[in-house]
This record gives sequence, C-alpha cells and structure tokens, in this order.
Amino acid sequence: MTTTPDAAAAVRLPAQSVYQNRVADYWNTEANPVNLELGRIDGLYHHHYGVGEADWSVLDEPDPGLRRDRITAELHRLEHAQAELLTARLGPLSTADRVFDAGCGRGGGSVVAHLRYGCEADGVTISAKQAEFANEQARKRGIDDKVRYHHRNMLDTGLPTGAFAASWNNESTMYVELDLLFAEHARLLRRGGRYVVITGCYNDTYGRASREVSLINAHYICDIHPRSAYFRALARNRLVPVHVEDLTEVALPYWELRSRADHLVTGIEETFISAYRNGSFQYLLIAADRV
Ligand code: SAH
Repeated sequence: MTTTPDAAAAVRLPAQSVYQNRVADYWNTEANPVNLELGRIDGLYHHHYGVGEADWSVLDEPDPGLRRDRITAELHRLEHAQAELLTARLGPLSTADRVFDAGCGRGGGSVVAHLRYGCEADGVTISAKQAEFANEQARKRGIDDKVRYHHRNMLDTGLPTGAFAASWNNESTMYVELDLLFAEHARLLRRGGRYVVITGCYNDTYGRASREVSLINAHYICDIHPRSAYFRALARNRLVPVHVEDLTEVALPYWELRSRADHLVTGIEETFISAYRNGSFQYLLIAADRV
C-alpha cells in the first residue's frame, strides 16, 4: 500500500478528539458552588474530594447563615487536607525544582506545592477557562513567575523532557488512556523523579464496573479505570510504585458531610457513598519513582 500525502492529510487526527472537546466544554462551563464557594475562602481552588474525620458539630449550628458557612469551611478543610496529603508525597523538593500538575483544574494543587517547597510549577488543563482563571489567581498571589498554567492536553504537553523533579494527577486520570498519560509523565520526569496519583478506581475483586461506577462516569463524562490498570500501565512506563494507600475509608466523612450540605450538593453524593460502602469503588493514592 502506498500512502500519498493527500491520503495522509485526509486521515489526520484532530488536535483534540470529540471526547476531549466534550470534557473541555464541561470544565469551561462548570460553575458548581462546591468548586467555587470553597475556593473563595482562601484562594485555593480544589476540584477533588476530601479526606479525614469531619467536625460534625458544624451541622448543629443553629444560625442558618453561619451553619452554611461552617459546613463550607469544613468541606474546604477536608479537600485541602487531601491536597496536602498528595503534596507531601512529592518531596523532598527544593526551590530549584520544577513540578508538573497534570489536569490542574482551577490550580489549587500547584499553589499548594509551591507554598510547601518553593518550587516552580506548571499546570496543564484542557479547559481554556480554567487555565485563565488559575493564572489570574497566581497573579493575585504574586507567584505568577513561579506558577504557570497552560491550556494543553496532558497527554502531549510540549513541556521539556526530563525537566521535572515531580509530577502528579489529582483526580484527572479517569479522562485519559493511562499508557499515553504515563508515557508523558515518564518523558517529563527526570530519572529518580516522583509521580503521585490520587484517583477513584473500580475494584477488580468486585468484578466489572458497578452500576454506581457507571453513574459516576456518566455524571462527569469520564471513564474510571480498574485498579489493576494503574499498576500495569505504571510498570510499562518506567514508573515503579513506592507507596500505595487505600483512602476509601477516610474519604467517606467528606461525602457524608457533603450529602448534608444543601447549598453545595451536586446530586452525585449518595452514589459515591454507596460505591465506597459496597466495595466496588476505591479511592487510591499511588506514589511511584521514575526509573
Ligand atoms: N487536579 C485538579 C482538577 C481535577 S478535575 C484538582 O485537584 O483540583 C479534572 C481536570 O482534568 C480538569 O481540570 C480537566 O480540564 C482536566 N483534564 C481532563 N482531560 C484532560 C486532558 N486530556 N488534558 C489536560 N487536562 C485534562
């Protein structure tokens, strides 16, 4: 078979797939109070879930306005604790180091890493709106010379090879093929660099994805991977696990509190709670070394 230049042009892939356009549309228009009101508290915008025991006394607050504020602050505290948990696994790092935040959302994770280590950070999101928002936050904080956000595909970032001491995905791996993603992390990380992921995954011991997992996929337009897929794809891409932590139990208080926050619920809360409780879904942290 010969391939003429014309034929090659005819089958050229779009820069972004139809699916990726959908994901970008979702995040470009997303304005859930749970993603905005929590971040307004201290300018750290997290679009992931929380970990740790909740202060349930916030539910007993008699003043309705104050009750709302206290619940919002408590959920933010739990989300922030999750970001700190991930960030602690990236180090040790110095001010000379550079880190890569894959699927960075409105940017909270990169700021947390910079505040902890003084390192430079590059965040990448497929949503132009999110990148713009995150860069504005970095400008307001006066750290835009150290923390930058890019509207790019995390599978093909164009960032320099071997330039990063650490990289991570915080709840963004369910949008992509793991082999393509980990190949890009392995390219960007220097030898001995650290990769960390926190993700929901479906539990292989349960079997195929449960109804709850399918509902979560439909809600977020994502495709949750089985736990086994992570370890296979890491091994294929020079990423060797050094620490694995099942966060399922410690994620439940966040969801239980959120399900009672009438001003913040998105409708997916009960599904997460039953998926975690029935064992079909797990919340996992994996830290790996780039060899
Ligand atoms: N890590 C962030 C946001 C998680 S939400 C946080 O912890 O707050 C999921 C993010 O993945 C969104 O920002 C979305 O734009 C991003 N994303 C999904 N597919 C992507 C892709 N192919 N390339 C870059 N970002 C992507």
